[in-house]
Amino acid sequence: MASWETVIGLECHVELNTQTKMFCGCRNVFGAEPNTNTCPVCMGHPGSLPVPNAEAIRRIVKIGLALDSAIAPHSLFHRKNYFYPDMPKNYQISQYDLPICVGGHLDIDLADGSTKRVGITRVHMEEDTGKTTHGSESGRIHEAEYALIDYNRAGVPLVECVSEPDMRTAEEAAAYLRELRATLEVLDVSDVKMEEGSLRCDANISVRPPGSEVLGTKVEIKNMNSIRSLERALLYEAQRQIQTMEAGERLVQETRHWDEGSGMTTSMRSKEEAFDYRYFPEPDIPPLEPSDGWVEEIRATLPELPRARRLRYEALGVRSEVVRVLVADRTSVMLFEGAVAAGADPAPAATWITQDVAALRNETGSDGALTARHVADIVRLVADGTVSGAGAKQALADAFSSGAGIPEIVERLKLRQVSDTDTLGTFADEVIDEHPDVVEKFRGGKDGVIGFLVGQLMQKAGGAANPKVAQELLRERLRG
Ligand SMILES: [Zn+2]
Repeated sequence: MASWETVIGLECHVELNTQTKMFCGCRNVFGAEPNTNTCPVCMGHPGSLPVPNAEAIRRIVKIGLALDSAIAPHSLFHRKNYFYPDMPKNYQISQYDLPICVGGHLDIDLADGSTKRVGITRVHMEEDTGKTTHGSESGRIHEAEYALIDYNRAGVPLVECVSEPDMRTAEEAAAYLRELRATLEVLDVSDVKMEEGSLRCDANISVRPPGSEVLGTKVEIKNMNSIRSLERALLYEAQRQIQTMEAGERLVQETRHWDEGSGMTTSMRSKEEAFDYRYFPEPDIPPLEPSDGWVEEIRATLPELPRARRLRYEALGVRSEVVRVLVADRTSVMLFEGAVAAGADPAPAATWITQDVAALRNETGSDGALTARHVADIVRLVADGTVSGAGAKQALADAFSSGAGIPEIVERLKLRQVSDTDTLGTFADEVIDEHPDVVEKFRGGKDGVIGFLVGQLMQKAGGAANPKVAQELLRERLRG
């Protein structure tokens, strides 16, 4: 593998979660009864006229701004002509040489701690097609006895985001898709559910000798419906292309289908069968000419983007491994933000949220009655020694189910640690008197037996002693 370089570019399709479709007033919802959200416009009846959805345009501009694209002052819709049963007009309204968003980039963080900038070629607006389901006993398309078509999806606003061929490994491609998904999620423009098809991704992949500037024969892979399958498909396909080259055979430029079950890609169609789309400007829709003021208005609504947030959390002292876990979950982020706003030390707050709170949420399958205030109190009471780590876990679990305040729980469950040196000092003296043999071992150099003595002291204090203070007091006395 070392003697070849893999070149990968991704084309991602994003269904926008607008209330209505791209060019008509039909509802845009997933999972409705088939063919209930249709009208003459999205069914392509003669004489019906498309009207662009302003909210969809606003959302694609938002996506473009988040990716640092230039927003074109003049862009155009085109008709992309092809015949397919799930596309009732026999053309798709898309964009061709004048997309709304041009250029841009997405920075991705890799497992080795490095950062890579992936170029964005363009982001354009189009409409989705309907959905065909092939029916056969074997489930195979080629053996289908019938096909069912649902036009609910026809005309749903679809954004296509095309990257530059900047990725060199399957890991980088997966990191890019993860970052793009996270970005779209905070922008709140799409459900970004790969399993429901609201985020779909095709990959272009080729291999070449390292140092070569010329791109090798390109293969497009389709049908990957998770980030994991994207990674698997790319690893498989790179290997296949390298083996083909090394066997002295010729690679064909083609589209290949990823088969999740077999873990292989298979040929769908070669370039010779590629469509000629006969693009021409959509005569029923005027050019899009967003004003600078409108674009700036949208820019002002951009939330903090995922990478900026990760860097901010790291700057607060949270370790990057913890940050990764934290930002992957919306509830965790909200608890963390709230706890920090309430004055909690960020690093321990993040650890409590990603470990103990996450465990409680997993166990119960709910978010419990826990609030950011609870987390902030836990962090503070552990830091000032009021409760031990074990006591804090108990208090947290109680707060999770009861919703009661942490200080109240600490009193009710008697979790307050005894740190008072007079009381603990008396216990320390007693322990030393009661275990002369152990004391002798300690003084003889067996430092490990201190644990036993601390344990004895804890018992006398009913488990409420601060173990750190207890150990210090014992050591002080044994030294003297
Ligand atoms: Zn419609």
